[in-house]
Amino acid sequence: MNLIKKLTDCEEIFWINTGYVSCGDAGQPDGEKIVDIDEAEARLLRFAPFIERVFPEVKNGIIESPLTEIENFGRAYKDSCKGRLFLKQDSHLPISGSVKARGGIYEVLKLAETLAVREGLLNWNPETGEHENYAKLADSDMREFFSKYKVAVGSTGNLGLSIGIISAAIGFQVTVHMSADARQWKKDMLRSKGVTVVEYPDDYEAAVAQGRREAEADPLCHFVDDENSLDLFAGYSVAGKRLAHQFEEKGITIDMDHRLYVYLPCGVGGAPGGVTYGIKEYFGDNAYCFFAEPTHAPCMALGLITGKLNEIAVGDIGIDGKTEADGLAVGRPSRLVAKAMQSRLTGCFTVDDSKLYPYLAALKDAEDIFIEPSACAGFEGLHYISEYEGDAFPAPDENSIHIFWATGGNMVPEDEKVAYYERGK
Ligand SMILES: *Cc1c(COP(=O)(O)O)cnc(C)c1O
Repeated sequence: MNLIKKLTDCEEIFWINTGYVSCGDAGQPDGEKIVDIDEAEARLLRFAPFIERVFPEVKNGIIESPLTEIENFGRAYKDSCKGRLFLKQDSHLPISGSVKARGGIYEVLKLAETLAVREGLLNWNPETGEHENYAKLADSDMREFFSKYKVAVGSTGNLGLSIGIISAAIGFQVTVHMSADARQWKKDMLRSKGVTVVEYPDDYEAAVAQGRREAEADPLCHFVDDENSLDLFAGYSVAGKRLAHQFEEKGITIDMDHRLYVYLPCGVGGAPGGVTYGIKEYFGDNAYCFFAEPTHAPCMALGLITGKLNEIAVGDIGIDGKTEADGLAVGRPSRLVAKAMQSRLTGCFTVDDSKLYPYLAALKDAEDIFIEPSACAGFEGLHYISEYEGDAFPAPDENSIHIFWATGGNMVPEDEKVAYYERGK
């Protein structure tokens, strides 16, 4: 197939998913539920008093990011693509400054709740919904209780940051298994918070495998499985509900005459997959979701195009998986997510690394917003969408809304931000 040849040659591609299944104005294709978004949102609300106590900077204890219209940035596209452009600033999510603050924090909070309820240290009645104030989970006796338990995760960086920071805040013993390409400042920051960081010379997959092995041998250890976790997926999916609320606040309607186009950078797939699931739940066929991947690590595109899902890795077609977009340096997609996206995703595209830095600098110049290179992969989508002439989706018009999911950046140290920017210029 021509597309596979291009992937093999690390050329950019745009692929439309012919397996897309209609889901009407809202809901999941065939009504197939993977996670319960309302249940996940309710759990985050129960934890809000705890979050507010431990992280006073988090307003009302709700971890959410702004949806920002980027008119100045959009001016460059006025002639080529119609509609309003927005940036979903998960780059500025509190606590860990990336989209991983959604899934990662949710999974660790759920673990803490499960353990505390099981031991009779926390009252929550799932039937009635009644519960005591979760702020007590930050008391010293609770921290002592949690310190008996361990959390482990394998990560290219940002998931490690999110799991490490929240686990340490709860009192868990936490180990982050990191691949060699993870940035030094992320390792340093985690160690400064009492997190154990183990480094691997191999890639991300090896770090995850080792983390999983170590955790399996220890019954008191919970392994956060970036490749298969339904809890991570549920945490990410809440973004759809929150987005619906933000649109409402801004007086924006999404319907057949006001279509939504969403561009999501994809690594293993958990974050963009969970977000896409959430978006389908609220906007159905009126939303078109696209994944963006580096030309050197197009694992989800490869898995979906071939239909082999996680049974093929980029190494199998001779690609090295090396990219400056470190959050996207993944060779094999999540099976859970690849399967879920077969019916929900509108398409995938790949981006050459050389384009990420100019986007980074252009966004900074136009909007004074900094996001990391990985988070810039989605911008390229606008070109593909505006040039597309098939019938998988209508061409954007004046009423269209575009959202670039800015997946990370706020915790990048100042000197690295400047270096990225200079490079883009
Ligand atoms: C993790 C990450 C992604 C992609 O999320 P996956 O769940 O790995 O697909 C995108 N951008 C940034 C900055 C990330 O940290």
